[in-house]
Amino acid sequence: MLRPSASTKFPRHPIPPAGLRTLLALTLLGAALGAHAADYSHRKALLIGVDGMQYERLLEAIDEGTAPNIAGLQLGKSYVGGVIGSQTQAPTNSGPGWATLLTGAWVDRHGVQNNGSSWRSLADSVFKQIKRSDPMRRTASIVSWGTINDNFANDISDGYVDLALKCHDVDQCVADAASQELEHADPDFVFAHFDEPDLAGHSHGFTVPYQDAIQGVDAQVGQVLAALKRRQQQHPSEDWLVIVAPDHGRVMPGGYGHGNQTVSEKTTFIAINKPANAQLTTPVVRSSTDPLDNLYGHASQADITPTILKHLGVPLDMTGHRMDGLPLIGQVGARQLAYSIDPTGAAVTLNWRLTGANADSQLLRVFRNGEPVAVLIGAQRFTDSTLPAGTGDLNYTVVTQQVATSLLVERGQAD
Ligand SMILES: [Zn+2]
Repeated sequence: MLRPSASTKFPRHPIPPAGLRTLLALTLLGAALGAHAADYSHRKALLIGVDGMQYERLLEAIDEGTAPNIAGLQLGKSYVGGVIGSQTQAPTNSGPGWATLLTGAWVDRHGVQNNGSSWRSLADSVFKQIKRSDPMRRTASIVSWGTINDNFANDISDGYVDLALKCHDVDQCVADAASQELEHADPDFVFAHFDEPDLAGHSHGFTVPYQDAIQGVDAQVGQVLAALKRRQQQHPSEDWLVIVAPDHGRVMPGGYGHGNQTVSEKTTFIAINKPANAQLTTPVVRSSTDPLDNLYGHASQADITPTILKHLGVPLDMTGHRMDGLPLIGQVGARQLAYSIDPTGAAVTLNWRLTGANADSQLLRVFRNGEPVAVLIGAQRFTDSTLPAGTGDLNYTVVTQQVATSLLVERGQAD
């Protein structure tokens, strides 16, 4: 290391005293070691989608011992379809649902308004974010309902999905192809989508065939997890995140349909093989008696892509961060980020919830369209009254404990 010269009377940068220099050196060394220690090349992820599988019916199956594979994961309640009455609200249907699972963004960003092959997701997908951080990583999307891959056709044609396979509603094709990919290819991220619970629900409602479909798909999940286990015997250094989640709930009491905003249609689950943080395990409880208000205190389907990216070590980019969800592993970020606009349109007030034991001393940074606008300690709201001119959308990002979450403010919707 270059020693500061005694003859340097006016150094360009003030030279810190010796003790501080040592501290700085140690900090730099620590940062370098930290960067070296954080080798994410063996971090990989498997996301299994179980279309239209109702949380309460799954719990029944687990109680009856007919869903042993999903039962082997940590299970938490979640919600789908965004917040009612806000720009994040979407039909509790598969198109917007899977688009949110695969982007970490609500419908106001991904734009997949409903089911249909012509919609194209406009938000950065998990596939794109993984490949952009490391083009050598391999991704796969193996789907029973082909519309999902149509909605991500741009990602596929841009080369962000190395294996894109439609199984045309044949779930066994999904189980076989995902197992093949895991055991005989070298994937970093695999999305496998099963459809039978949704098909059975539409045909039979919450009856025996629906429970049979849960049991059947759980067995296929077991087939895929067995292939993963064989892979890990060959590659013991690999560290796999596994998540199982549906895209939407179903209407009570019959269970035939979905698409609207009832509690049971918005209620889903997330199953994970890693120790989950409070965002999944400890919902924010509101004093409200409105069950929807309390549902929003749980994790959401927007949290899945941030969780995968966190496990894979995809670095946070404040200028490009546009995901509404939070990681379900590691430190907990700012939860339930929401906003209001001043009636004059001159100010935006953001609010969120901090729930950690150190909430009062937590350092937060707020960014607007990637530019820093505030540094706060222990705050749970911030008013931005220095808005740029115009009516363009503003993307706010709140970062705390190295966890970021974003929110789109549509100024056109003021008042
Ligand atoms: Zn359906």
